[in-house]
Amino acid sequence: MKSEYTLKEKIIEALKEQKEIYGDELFTSSLSLRKTEVRTDSSSDSSHNPALEAIETWEMAESLDELYDKIYECTKCVLHKGRNKFVFGVGNPNADVMLIGEGPGADEDRLGEPFVGRAGQLLNDILKAIHFTRQEVYIGNVVKCRPPGNRTPLPSEMETCLPYLTKQIQLIKPKLILCLGLTAAQGLLKKKDSLSALRGKIFELGKVKVMVTYHPAALLRNPNWKRGCWEDVQKFRKLYDEMKGN
Ligand code: SF4
Repeated sequence: MKSEYTLKEKIIEALKEQKEIYGDELFTSSLSLRKTEVRTDSSSDSSHNPALEAIETWEMAESLDELYDKIYECTKCVLHKGRNKFVFGVGNPNADVMLIGEGPGADEDRLGEPFVGRAGQLLNDILKAIHFTRQEVYIGNVVKCRPPGNRTPLPSEMETCLPYLTKQIQLIKPKLILCLGLTAAQGLLKKKDSLSALRGKIFELGKVKVMVTYHPAALLRNPNWKRGCWEDVQKFRKLYDEMKGN
């Protein structure tokens, strides 16, 4: 049963990758269940294992394009109801650096791309100031559909959507992630600390180092926070240079 064996191997590999990023604490209860139930010994019979049957096809995507094709019509949470465009993410599929925001706003929902409005322009300027281009990094969000009225995504919505982002991280294999804003940081790092407590620190998500700064939209509302953001991103760039041996 070669095809079943290959399927099982792929599932085990996907679960191992999840574990590399999040240790024993996987995102969804369903995935945790599957992790518990999937037997990794070669004698187990995948054709009769309900855990294997529950694995969704997107979890085995081998490229960002394949993942997009499998999830762009997602209806797993209520946010799909107000969606104009699904906002998957954009940038270099082999990026060393990922930037993660909260969720699409009106412009992003209209165009299907993250950070394209005024906040997006400011993000481009921030990137330029630390010698990155938008094209060389990868930009995504913790939820891929616009919350109504730009409200903060609910914890349940983030928990439902976050496995897609985890899969993107697995496929891109960045060295560094910069979380933009408290919601992205709390969602990705699974922490409840305040933004001021999270900023300036270096966290580890498996092999990926993660830092936190302000969301560009917050900087537009509170320009006096730009100095703090500048300090954060300079530290981020320094960490990147150290990791690259520059
Ligand atoms: S926000 Fe995420 S989980 Fe919710 S419908 Fe959109 S893609 Fe699916």
